[in-house]
Amino acid sequence: AMDRKAFDKNAALPSNKQKPATSKSYADPPPSIVSEPEDGGERYSIGAFLGKGGFAVCYEGSLARNGRVYAMKVVKSAMPQKKMEEKFRTELQIHSKMRHPFIVQFYRAFAFESSTYVVLELCPNGSVMDMFRKRRCLSLPEVRRYMIQLCAAVKYLHKRFVAHRDLKMGNLFLDHNMNIKVGDFGLAAMILSDKDAKRRNTLCGTPNYIAPEVLDKSKGGHTQKVDIWSVGVICFAMLAGYLPFQSKTQDEVYRKVQNLNYVWPKESESGNYIPEEAKDLVGRCLNLVDEERPDPDDIVEHPFFNMYDGCIPRQLDPSCRFNKPLWL
Ligand code: ADP
Repeated sequence: AMDRKAFDKNAALPSNKQKPATSKSYADPPPSIVSEPEDGGERYSIGAFLGKGGFAVCYEGSLARNGRVYAMKVVKSAMPQKKMEEKFRTELQIHSKMRHPFIVQFYRAFAFESSTYVVLELCPNGSVMDMFRKRRCLSLPEVRRYMIQLCAAVKYLHKRFVAHRDLKMGNLFLDHNMNIKVGDFGLAAMILSDKDAKRRNTLCGTPNYIAPEVLDKSKGGHTQKVDIWSVGVICFAMLAGYLPFQSKTQDEVYRKVQNLNYVWPKESESGNYIPEEAKDLVGRCLNLVDEERPDPDDIVEHPFFNMYDGCIPRQLDPSCRFNKPLWL
């Protein structure tokens, strides 16, 4: 019954005609059992708290029928702002159409009491951000593996004219095999034509990962290439152990981005040796001219992935979240 019924975009969505009928606060936990509205719909029991985002709270949910576990994203139907509702609608519309081994699988969305529940693939190993906080620099084999998986997901999205627009370490979740799952489509957009690109001039993304053309209103829009910039930022961070444009204030981050002002660690300072090939690859992604940035296919064909010691681990242990793996 987890058949992938076409997601009915009107069924489960919050409607602004609905009264904010609840006196419950945002932080209230959901009921212990939630069920899909239609006859014979599935029932889920809500389990452990997973995390909290901008407007959603995530819990583990297990399907009553067979105990299979999912991540349940819970969003109050009465959203404080119209803008948020629209964003959520776009998120569901885009995410529900995606199916790829390195993208968080969307199963379904339904309304129950005064919330919308989104049933997603569970990623039990946190995010790359959690791992980065613990470990800082990752080993070169790990960086290669995560980059290849990320590029496969980005290639899939771009082929379907989707720009994720919020790629960052916190949105790269890790499944039980430590494979990357790109999640959080809250800022994703379909960009089909130049005209679409021109309309896309809203400031979105997370300061540290934002592409320069998004900041420059006079540029008149942005394309899928904003994601390649973010891939460059993520790759830099995994290699260097810090974000390339990190600053105390947002304005200063933006200034550094627009001046392409980032500095690699001195070899003596970082625990990791960073080969020239890796720096060259990051440099190509962090190009101020968006058309000159490589495509996902160009990235994985870069010499960084083909070096003499360029091994790529087929499997990683979840202990890698906390400790550098000991390679044989
Ligand atoms: P928002 O869109 O409001 O930012 P997120 O989608 O980022 O919400 O989810 C909020 C938090 O829930 C995440 O930071 C993470 O801790 C957790 N989470 C989200 N999706 C999953 C998932 N598929 N598996 C496990 N935890 C998840």
